[in-house]
Amino acid sequence: MKALVATGPNEFSVQEVTEPEPGYREVLARVRAVTICGTDAHLLRGDYPGFWPPGYPFIPGHEWAGEIVALGPGAEDLGWSEGDRIAGTSHDACGVCQKCVEGRYNLCENYGKEGLHRQYGHNYQGAFAEYVVHGVKAIFHLPEEIDFPTGATLDPASIGLHTANRGGVRPGDNVVVFGPGPVGLLAADAALTRGAARVIVIGKPSIDCDRLELARSMGFEAIDYEGIDPVEAVRESTGGLGADVILDCAGVPETFQWSIAALRKGGRCAAVGIPVEGVALDLQELVLYEKELVGVRATAGEMRHVIPLVANGRIRVKKLISHRFPLEEFGEALDTFNERRGCAMKVIIEP
Ligand SMILES: [Zn+2]
Ligand SMILES: [Zn+2]
Repeated sequence: MKALVATGPNEFSVQEVTEPEPGYREVLARVRAVTICGTDAHLLRGDYPGFWPPGYPFIPGHEWAGEIVALGPGAEDLGWSEGDRIAGTSHDACGVCQKCVEGRYNLCENYGKEGLHRQYGHNYQGAFAEYVVHGVKAIFHLPEEIDFPTGATLDPASIGLHTANRGGVRPGDNVVVFGPGPVGLLAADAALTRGAARVIVIGKPSIDCDRLELARSMGFEAIDYEGIDPVEAVRESTGGLGADVILDCAGVPETFQWSIAALRKGGRCAAVGIPVEGVALDLQELVLYEKELVGVRATAGEMRHVIPLVANGRIRVKKLISHRFPLEEFGEALDTFNERRGCAMKVIIEP
């Protein structure tokens, strides 16, 4: 089969490789659509040495949809058949540690341990290929209404929903989203599904210009923070009170500081962007005004909740699909994504 193979930092090409075989409770799927995620761009650059990927050669890719072409032993007993249309997600956790038992498999205590845990496209071969093997814990039935490119964006949509869930958005809340990228806009839609009264998306016009425009076209309030104080802007638009919930989807050090300052008393910030450096936080503000700051890692059971919301159009992933490329043009697709050519949001590869 053809696959995108990384052979070192910034070294990758589409090559002919051996097709994988499904093992116990696994399926082999024909990949029909797979999207480029920010994590893929970092991984291909070699930004997580020795971790993602643990070694070379490596096939990345973890946001995909396709159909089952072969079943490993035990998969049929669990309700899977050849020809099933499915979407994948990355975490295939152990299922037996206490975090998995509690349903928080994104925090699996056996992360990365051979034979117990896999994160496809991160520490195990992924889906930038014609075929991929997945354990049945990491696949989901795709309803008729969802086509393959849309199905490939269910994984990031489930992360958007997990972010809004971790933020504890309640009906009538004023919600602020930092970072108008794909996860930011998906989290914004997810906040609406939880009953947010208003969602204000904040970005930097020099890099997010088209994205803020897209946010406006989706009906969100959008604020360009360049040249202004984003904390003041949030306070001004919330009658001086601040936001009930902030979803930090930018992950730069400043947005953590702004988030704590721009929260209403008793407010909560859920951060999904991974900051690359440390930052000083105003902990007095956190303690004295009972503000909360919580982390968000991937998704924990939201795939099944997000599928009907995407199918009925309440989480609008189709709005975010900006480009489609064949696997052979992966380099071009990655440049389009990295340089945000033509307001690139979700760039889809169709192997
Ligand atoms: Zn991703
Ligand atoms: Zn586990």
